[in-house]
Amino acid sequence: MASTEHSTKRARTKIVSTLGPVSSSPEMIEELILEGVDVFRINMAHGTRSEHQAVFDRIREVSEAVGRPIAILVDLAGPKIRLGELFQDPKVCTLGEEIRFVAGNESNSTSEFTTNYESLIDELSLGDNVMLADGTVALKVVAIEDGEAVCEVTEGGTVRSRQGVNLPGVSLSVPAMTERDHENAHWAAKAGVDFISLSFVRTPLEIVELKQIVRDHASSAMVIAKIEKREALQRLDEIVLAADGVMVARGDLGVEIDVAETPMAQKRIIRKCQEYSKPVIVATQMLDSMHKSTRPTRAEASDVANAILDGADACMLSGETAIGDYPVESVAMMNRIMLNTESSLVDMPEYASPKVADGVQLVTSAVVYGAARIADRLEAKLVVIATRTGNTARIKAKQRDYIPTVGVSRNLSTLRQLCLFWGIIPLRGMPLDSGEELRTAVENWGREQALLTDGDYAVFVTSSTFGTLGHDELFVHQIED
Ligand code: PGA
Ligand code: MN
Repeated sequence: MASTEHSTKRARTKIVSTLGPVSSSPEMIEELILEGVDVFRINMAHGTRSEHQAVFDRIREVSEAVGRPIAILVDLAGPKIRLGELFQDPKVCTLGEEIRFVAGNESNSTSEFTTNYESLIDELSLGDNVMLADGTVALKVVAIEDGEAVCEVTEGGTVRSRQGVNLPGVSLSVPAMTERDHENAHWAAKAGVDFISLSFVRTPLEIVELKQIVRDHASSAMVIAKIEKREALQRLDEIVLAADGVMVARGDLGVEIDVAETPMAQKRIIRKCQEYSKPVIVATQMLDSMHKSTRPTRAEASDVANAILDGADACMLSGETAIGDYPVESVAMMNRIMLNTESSLVDMPEYASPKVADGVQLVTSAVVYGAARIADRLEAKLVVIATRTGNTARIKAKQRDYIPTVGVSRNLSTLRQLCLFWGIIPLRGMPLDSGEELRTAVENWGREQALLTDGDYAVFVTSSTFGTLGHDELFVHQIED
């Protein structure tokens, strides 16, 4: 049966939480769900297959036990370039020092670095920037000689073995998915994951190919494009259209482009997702100081609020919930900031209706649009969207109206995907064979949740003839005394 948790305690903006060593126990997973997590991210950059499988199974079990659909996002690492083992770890790079990238995977001195990317030296050119340690250390290529790339440190700092290497503006020939990404994608699709994201996307074709892998496994997982390369920004329209959802991956994006450019890039990406009605997640450093503190900085609180104002469907926690000291507090804090922000948003003008209701029929998008107008005029207390693939709920979410909205479906996998859609409460166990049964069941649930009482209106969007006209039925139901 449906969760008995009061739905207004949870924010309309969804919370994605990355699981890690501090948060993977069943007890922690449950606590994080109760504090407001809608989607868990399993990061394929860390851990083994059997660990991933165990966490996957555990999320499903806990979700079942608490009676609430919770989605799982498997994040593929993509062609991430990493340093090899350093001769000296950690190594302090000082301004002006010479560092040489050498082939192979053995470093014979403190000034020799290796990477996991074989063609690196061939693809670097004079003047290219090589960024290390999350952009805090910068090198510039000053010579290419004897199969080595000679660099000068232009910004000093400490680097460690296996840290990421970013090459802003360097066009790499590396394939979009490594062998490991392929294996992980196969596993994720077979396991029945709800979302698969791909890191370092450069072209829409990469998304199309990943979608093909997913479909070949008869999986309905939605494919999320992580925007963290300048190349992706250059082909943003095509990538957003090709993907089922998007992540503003600010961690790497802030190194791949100038960090000063990221705020406006975030707004531009979110606007595109609104235009094409695709869900969008804002990620990385949202409550970064909560790794070590029970309270966020003022700037972080504003960051979460501003992401919502920009139009984000979800905000993500990374290290805060994976390795931080306060994972539960981070989720609770994020949820609180969201609730506070949303409560003053109610009076703001709504967002424009999406230009391209990609994936739904014209009749469906018109009926969904109309349902919101009717609900508004009646001051209805609830909107109910029946959805087979989730697309109707996805369109509804982008309208950003504040009347509580539930999504119902026969398909449990669809219900889990609704976890990412702004303002949509996925409701399990609703009868969908007759309109009357559905209305009675929703009415009972709404009363239980104190969302509906005598005389209230609820607006239902359903379908008379599944598959032909889409969602063509709109029913206004008044709760009887
Ligand atoms: P990551 O992606 O945490 O997998 O690197 C998010 C980001 O880069 O912001
Ligand atoms: Mn990244």
